[in-house]
Amino acid sequence: MKVIIHRGTHQIGGCVTEIQSNKGTRIIIDIGENLPAEDGRNLPDIQVEGLNKEGKNVDAVFVTHYHGDHIGMFNKISSEIPIYVGEVSKEIYKILQKRLIKAKKSSKEDLKLIDEFRTYKIPKKETIKDISITPIEVDHSAFNSHMLLIECDGKRLLHTGDFRTHGPRGKSVIPALEKYVGKVDCLICEGTTLSRKGQTLVKETELEEKAQEIFIKNKNTFVMCSSTNIDRIAILHKAALKAGRLFVCDSYQKEMLMYIDSIAKSDLYKFKNKVLSYAENIKEKMEKMGFVMLVRPNSTSKKVMSYFPNHVFVYSQWEGYLDEKHKDQYSYLQEFVPKDYTYLHTSGHANYEAIKKVCETVKPKIVIPIHGENPEAFESMRARKQRNKNTKR
Ligand SMILES: [Zn+2]
Ligand SMILES: [Zn+2]
Repeated sequence: MKVIIHRGTHQIGGCVTEIQSNKGTRIIIDIGENLPAEDGRNLPDIQVEGLNKEGKNVDAVFVTHYHGDHIGMFNKISSEIPIYVGEVSKEIYKILQKRLIKAKKSSKEDLKLIDEFRTYKIPKKETIKDISITPIEVDHSAFNSHMLLIECDGKRLLHTGDFRTHGPRGKSVIPALEKYVGKVDCLICEGTTLSRKGQTLVKETELEEKAQEIFIKNKNTFVMCSSTNIDRIAILHKAALKAGRLFVCDSYQKEMLMYIDSIAKSDLYKFKNKVLSYAENIKEKMEKMGFVMLVRPNSTSKKVMSYFPNHVFVYSQWEGYLDEKHKDQYSYLQEFVPKDYTYLHTSGHANYEAIKKVCETVKPKIVIPIHGENPEAFESMRARKQRNKNTKR
């Protein structure tokens, strides 16, 4: 087994990992788009032979979840290469693309490509020639995120994708690894938060309590969060109903939530008949009962916000986007997010303890850090630095 990290060892996002078997089978894990440079420039794509550069096509691509820094290059690779994603990820990504097409940020051709994605199901093993891939569902700010267990040439490797253990589904991460994975030879592990060692992360459930307090105290609340961060929305929704407020969003967001309602088992994701899609005729009801409404930087949201001048604005995503350094997001957020926003957020990524627990569970001989700016932090976790002679970084 040969491992090549094409991108992602010293940066957050843009991950592309290749696994090759001795017989020459090649699979790629994640085809992440590069995040823009600090000055806002789009960085050139990496060129991988047989993926987006001439050469014999790789045998398959497996995507851990639908975040752009893991799937964004899907329209830049040869259309003959099969792309595998989780079943639910595919549907969420399709709903998102339909909105982007309306906003002229995507095309019908892209939607057609997504339609052709193949899907994998947990914990069913997929086989690509002599490599087998077993998905394990994990907790992350994207619904339906996976770790992938890769087996070939008598070796076992676990790729964590993005994960955490402090979200609503966090408790099942370690038991799933014990049940479906066990010991591995190599662990490719995300390390997004490792530069913040020792910092305890707020649990999503603690956010629910804080949200409820805000919604009780304030009659009208607008919240900005990622439309695909389903766990966050579920928690805001629960808090809003407990506070006796209406829960309002746009028709796109409602379509997404109705889809989740149709496939999820937990009561946390029961949105049916409880979520209102915004229309002028519910204004009066909103005035009477008070509300929590999800908004995004567009003219409709701005208009509704102007109808209710007495409101609080909750910013519920990574605060870094509000930093001038992140020009791509900053340019449109600075006009939309008021200076006196209330911050309500916790990371979608694993903290130090969660990563340590994963290492203790799968007992890898080699650890390769990815998706972080501080890979050296792994050394302090007694991860062995030795490099397998077959392992190339
Ligand atoms: Zn990521
Ligand atoms: Zn992610």
